[in-house]
Amino acid sequence: MAAQTIAEAAIYEGLEAQAFPFFGAERRGAPVMAFCRIDDKKISVRTQVYQPDMLVVMDESLLDIEPVADGLKPNGSAVVNTKLSPDKVDLGIRVKCVSVDATTVALEMLKAPIVNTAILGAMAKANDIVTLESIKKAIASRFGEHLGEEAGRINAAAAQAAYDRAVLGESAAQRPIVKKRAWTPTWQDIPPGVALGQADMNGLKVGPGSAFQVRTGTWRTRTPRYLREKCVRCAKCWFICPDAAISRESDDHIQIDYDHCKGCGVCASICPAKAIEMAKGAKL
Ligand code: SF4
Ligand code: SF4
Repeated sequence: MAAQTIAEAAIYEGLEAQAFPFFGAERRGAPVMAFCRIDDKKISVRTQVYQPDMLVVMDESLLDIEPVADGLKPNGSAVVNTKLSPDKVDLGIRVKCVSVDATTVALEMLKAPIVNTAILGAMAKANDIVTLESIKKAIASRFGEHLGEEAGRINAAAAQAAYDRAVLGESAAQRPIVKKRAWTPTWQDIPPGVALGQADMNGLKVGPGSAFQVRTGTWRTRTPRYLREKCVRCAKCWFICPDAAISRESDDHIQIDYDHCKGCGVCASICPAKAIEMAKGAKL
């Protein structure tokens, strides 16, 4: 909710944004991560964020059990829910740091230790991208929609209170940052055509998103048209196509397999060179 809310606040500022969570062990209380990516240009990257500009730690006990600052840029910033002053917050890296006792704010105002809206208020103190006003508007909208108008108003007030109490300083860099094991891509981060090869199931050849022997391309109501001369050969369309209906030629130009392309338009949407356009109808 916090990541989605800061993304919504960024959109109020006229920026582009995306937000998504990552769950590890599926149990209450297990560490979880959420990511928010903000830009003034269209965002086509869909991976997790590995080198954040800003780190937000909602539970300070994580500092002792997770290398939370691993990847944080040296000129980045951090917001930490703690009673400590920023110079006592040992992130293992000296960065601009905002500390705030968001738990106390939440207990006072929401009567529950739910810190996500309070911490958003403190985030406004650590960045000059999204203003407190936009954050409060996004909280009122998002939390109001789910929990009612009064809850939206109280949560926005919690953000204001946390902003007022947040202390700006620099973090300490005493502890070593234990690097995580080199990242291994998940199935979401590698092209379907690479992750899942073609398989034989009872004599039927099947592959990512498609049965090769069934012409699923007949479902199509829009058809991608490839404008070869505009293509910069970045391979993003090949990477993203959910049906592995795009293949690469030896010089990295692409080919579209119209027998299996379902016309979703993701390739046209991600293409930075506008080298794919969607035409109406099942055929070009
Ligand atoms: S429209 Fe593009 S992304 Fe979608 S199935 Fe066809 S080739 Fe793949
Ligand atoms: S995304 Fe666009 S520019 Fe990149 S390879 Fe595909 S068609 Fe070419």
